[in-house]
Amino acid sequence: MNIALIAHDAKKELMVQFCIAYCRVLSQHNLLATGTTGKLVSEATGLPIQCFLSGVHGGDQQIAARIACNEIDLLLFFRDPISAKPHEPNEMNLLRLCDVRNIPIATNIATAEVLIHGLERGDLEWRNIVNPPQH
Ligand code: PGA
Repeated sequence: MNIALIAHDAKKELMVQFCIAYCRVLSQHNLLATGTTGKLVSEATGLPIQCFLSGVHGGDQQIAARIACNEIDLLLFFRDPISAKPHEPNEMNLLRLCDVRNIPIATNIATAEVLIHGLERGDLEWRNIVNPPQH
C-alpha cells in the first residue's frame, strides 16, 4: 500500500519516533512524504521513502494530487494545532480529498496507532481493490 507521511515542524520528532516504533510494519509498504519529513524519517529508520518537495514548496500539494487520483491508501499527517506556521500545509484540502476518496487519515498519533494496527491486521486490504498495486 502507498502510505503518505506529513508532519508539521513541531510534530516531526514524533513522526520519527512513530516510524521507528512501527518500522517493521511500514517496511512492507511504499512510503511517500513531504521533503523534510521524509528525509528525517528515512535517516532515522533506513526505510526507503519517495520524498516530494518540502511543504513550503508545495510537497503537500504533490501528495494531495495523488490522493485526488486515489493513489494513496493511508495518510499520516501529524499536524500542529497550536503553533503551525502560515506556510505549513493546510489540512483542509487534504482532509477534503481523503473524504472524497475514502482514504483513511490520521491527524494525530493516537489515531495513527489505531490505523497502523488495522493495517497490520489487514483491515485496509479493500484498498487493494480500489487502488491495485502496480507491478
Ligand atoms: P516538510 O513539509 O516535511 O517538507 O517540512 C511539511 C511541513 O511543511 O510542515
